[in-house]
Amino acid sequence: MIVNIDQPQPSSLTLERLAIAKVSSPFLRNRTEALFCPDEHFFPNVPSSKLLVLSIRAIGPNAKDTSNSDEALLSALEHINIEPELIQSINEADWPNHWLVHIPMDRHGFLPKYKGDSQGIFWNPKGNLKLFIWCVTPTSDDEFKEIYTSCEVLLEVKIPARGPMTQHLTKKVMEYQLAFETKGESYPMKVTKAILSGNRIGGRPLKNGAVVAFVEHLPKVEYVRKFLQTKSWKNANGSIESTLVSIKLANCCPVCGAESHEQSCPYENRVNDLLANMSSIRKAGPSRVENTSLLILDKGPDKRPSTSRTKPLDKPAKKQKPNKKKKPNKK
Ligand SMILES: [Zn+2]
Repeated sequence: MIVNIDQPQPSSLTLERLAIAKVSSPFLRNRTEALFCPDEHFFPNVPSSKLLVLSIRAIGPNAKDTSNSDEALLSALEHINIEPELIQSINEADWPNHWLVHIPMDRHGFLPKYKGDSQGIFWNPKGNLKLFIWCVTPTSDDEFKEIYTSCEVLLEVKIPARGPMTQHLTKKVMEYQLAFETKGESYPMKVTKAILSGNRIGGRPLKNGAVVAFVEHLPKVEYVRKFLQTKSWKNANGSIESTLVSIKLANCCPVCGAESHEQSCPYENRVNDLLANMSSIRKAGPSRVENTSLLILDKGPDKRPSTSRTKPLDKPAKKQKPNKKKKPNKK
């Protein structure tokens, strides 16, 4: 982190949060996370020394299957010794298994690290298998910039093709203001990159009069939130200067839900490995972490007896005590 000496120094809590964020999923955020750019006026949006707010999403082939997905998430968190305090669905239409989750700050060391054995992926030990990844939600603009090194959302902007669709047009999309339009109000976005889009028609690639615009954040307004949360709503109204355009979300990564990757999805191989070995991993019993945040995949079944984890739903969850509890390493 670059610290300007004229600026107030980040608090130890901020540094701790950034250290936690650094071991989480480093990849392009899901589009709804673009809505989490900090809002100074949002009252609970302050960092807490007791509570950590995470964004967690399912990834892999079952990522969009919503049957018992809340239960799978809770079970997956408990499996790594974390009792969440709150689970709230984000209700995104395109990537429904995506939540805001509150966990006690002192449990963050049990979250699997991206650079660890499981590449930051955790899962439920029983039932319909789901894989999850996590990251920290930022609470200030400075944190946002540190945590979300890239938070672009890809929008397919359909422009009436009444003139030539050339590279010149992509420059215009960047120069002029692209905005969502509703009820006479426009909500502008910053476009960082634009490329011409096309379709294959009968196998032949053709321009389709659309430009894929990479935008920084999304306007935090009801219209945009509804657009993300309404499955049947594919096209939103927009404008570039006085030209009306139609705005659609570009397809996100089918494996992890990220907006885009420079190359192939960095999770794809690990997800396939995990799925291929999952029955033996699950049979080996809970891969509870003892004192690190790594999940050990190649543990023999004799090393840890499997424990049954049933508890009545109407009673408050008991805190899971790991066998050994050490403070997670601070950076
Ligand atoms: Zn991906």
